[in-house]
Amino acid sequence: MRNQEVVQLINGKGLRVDGRGLNELRPIKMEVGILDKADGSAYIEHGKNKILAAVYGPREAHPKHIALADRAVVRCRYHMAPFSVEERKSPAPSRRELELSKVIRESLEPAIMSEYFPRATIDIFIEVLQADAGTRCAGITAASLALADAGIPMRELVAGCAAGKIEGKVVLDLSDIEDKKGEADLPVAFMPKSNVISLLQMDGSLSEEEFRQALDMSTDACRKIYEMQREALRQKYHVAKEETEEKEEIGEVEA
Ligand code: ADP
Repeated sequence: MRNQEVVQLINGKGLRVDGRGLNELRPIKMEVGILDKADGSAYIEHGKNKILAAVYGPREAHPKHIALADRAVVRCRYHMAPFSVEERKSPAPSRRELELSKVIRESLEPAIMSEYFPRATIDIFIEVLQADAGTRCAGITAASLALADAGIPMRELVAGCAAGKIEGKVVLDLSDIEDKKGEADLPVAFMPKSNVISLLQMDGSLSEEEFRQALDMSTDACRKIYEMQREALRQKYHVAKEETEEKEEIGEVEA
């Protein structure tokens, strides 16, 4: 149920509570390979969200009965730290965290070439250190980088960003107050090269026209986030932009 208390979310100049325009992303920072012990890792700050992602694998499936003969089993755990929200959250997994773990896994699976690793597991951990709405999307962006950092072959990176509706207007990338007081939230994960939407959920209601506008806004934002992801990987592996572009041209790396 959405909170009915009245708060002005868009001012007379058309700006939002944090000063953003309607179609503007929050500031985003990403870093790849920040944990030594995991096979792959990444950290993202997306607005006030602070999220760590770590990946183990591919490694032999244990217990053996979970193994699949033709591909790796991908597992995902999304978890919010007790100190990630205003009131201490119980560290025990909630129904919401179980649901998010499932939808995040399903949004990443189309990108992972799990068929290369039969009888193996790939484990993805997402730890939300600070939450301010859009954590599933930012978690997907970070997990995708952690998978790449672990050297897991991927069809392409997956980027996540929500759009929604506040005070009758379609807006990009809702913050917590906008999520709570607004009319709709549409989290999206997108693979820009193959044009695949791998996550699409909706809370609240939108007309068909508003839905199309929100989807266009979020997929455009995912294209921008995808370029930031590529830059974060280049930074980690000290690869110059021109070098990847050259290799893409001659087909040595996937675009
Ligand atoms: P998402 O983070 O993907 O937008 P939700 O829409 O379920 O997922 O949550 C929106 C925001 O609500 C979260 O990012 C977080 O800021 C806040 N939130 C979620 N769960 C809790 C909780 N147990 N206590 C306080 N705030 C929460």
